[in-house]
Amino acid sequence: MNNIELKRFWEKVKEELICSLPESVHPWIYSLEVSGYDNGVLTVVTGQAMARDWLKKNHAAQMNLILKTISKNENSYINIIYDASAAKKIKKESEKIHKKEVEIQLKEKAMENLSYMQSASNLNLKYKFENFVVGKNNKFAHDAAVAVAKNPAGKYNPLFIYGNSGLGKTHLMQAIGHYIIFNNPKLKVKYVKTDDYINDFISNIRHSNNYTENMSKFYKKYNNIDVILIDDIQFIESKEKSMERMQHTFDTLYNKGKQIVIASDRVPQKIPKLTEALTSRFQMGLMIELTPPDFDIRCQIVKKLAQSNDINIDDSAVDYISMHFSKNVRELEGAFTKVCAYAELSKQVVTLQLTKDVLKCKENEDSLNFDKITEVTSAYYDVNVKDIKGTARSQKIAIARQLSIYLCRELTNQSFECIGEFFSKKHTTAMYAYDQIKNKIKTEKELSNAVREIKQALKVV
Ligand code: ADP
Ligand code: MG
Repeated sequence: MNNIELKRFWEKVKEELICSLPESVHPWIYSLEVSGYDNGVLTVVTGQAMARDWLKKNHAAQMNLILKTISKNENSYINIIYDASAAKKIKKESEKIHKKEVEIQLKEKAMENLSYMQSASNLNLKYKFENFVVGKNNKFAHDAAVAVAKNPAGKYNPLFIYGNSGLGKTHLMQAIGHYIIFNNPKLKVKYVKTDDYINDFISNIRHSNNYTENMSKFYKKYNNIDVILIDDIQFIESKEKSMERMQHTFDTLYNKGKQIVIASDRVPQKIPKLTEALTSRFQMGLMIELTPPDFDIRCQIVKKLAQSNDINIDDSAVDYISMHFSKNVRELEGAFTKVCAYAELSKQVVTLQLTKDVLKCKENEDSLNFDKITEVTSAYYDVNVKDIKGTARSQKIAIARQLSIYLCRELTNQSFECIGEFFSKKHTTAMYAYDQIKNKIKTEKELSNAVREIKQALKVV
């Protein structure tokens, strides 16, 4: 027991003693100061010899019984010592401990406030920078988010993060919020989903009998913020009135020098009927895309999840999950959770076999690999796989090779290093081939047909 624990323990015993012993001895109980608790012996010191003698003589049995019950130790007893100077010293120390306890309580209160603020800002504690795995696909977005968190309304305002679902937009955005709440608690942070913003706005104009009052509440809620995090802005599509309101919120905050962070599943230009005014405002600061993580990063994400959930998982199982869930981190996490739940319920460890058994159906759908893609592409162009992977330069082989590379990237999301290695090419060559095909299929019908037919053969469309 440390000092604080000892003091708490003694307070408990003392409370019981006061309840059980006659009032006439209470002053003597109050004169007792605890000095230690070893091997069941609770030593208390008093500055009054009478207190020691009277309590020992008349109440020892009852006092010991109380101690035995509280400590749940049959052999424990109270040892009362008389020592005037020691009792004074202990009293002083005890007051010090009390002061410390008050400080701890104050700190706890501050933490409580903080967690209140977090729930008021709709933040999920899991979404912090510490839990975000950084890779090539998200480094730029991550670094910009950290810069905004460290210096709100600095260089990057607004920060517009976009990318497909499940790639970490909400995570990064909330990480900014957490960082600021913990490091700069004076700033008011608000995380709002666009849907909620719209509903809030609509419900306020609906109650038109109280329109002015309601709108002023709305203004207060959204205009009185230092950092606003607006998620899933694409949901504002085609909603003209809400766009007008959003523009107003944006301008008010921006003009007051406040930080605005926006997340979207696409660029502003692709949000249906987004007004010119908002489109240009969203593009004013820094726009960054999140892309899917490559195989290594996916493995790291799964390992991190295992670590934070205290789960032992074989490397081969990590590889298996990461290989088959390449496009969406949410799905990757979902697969991991499913495997863990199964392992836990059936009291098994997470092995490759167990992972395969649990995710079996997914494997059939997703068991695309470079070999299969190259095989189907070479059959389509009637060339040899060996030639595709070799150095032959005939036009047909070159197209088949470039297309295979393009499809490997599109369908497996593996890194260009990895793809390059498979085709015995440099990663820049793989990247070039990918870009070539990506551009050409926009205009060359023959090529886009080939892509579609090969995908059909691979059963991915
Ligand atoms: P989005 O908002 O882009 O749809 P989320 O931010 O909700 O995606 O991310 C989906 C899930 O994947 C979350 O649980 C998030 O914590 C996790 N996640 C995404 N990217 C990463 C990453 N780089 N490191 C760790 N977890 C990630
Ligand atoms: Mg999201």
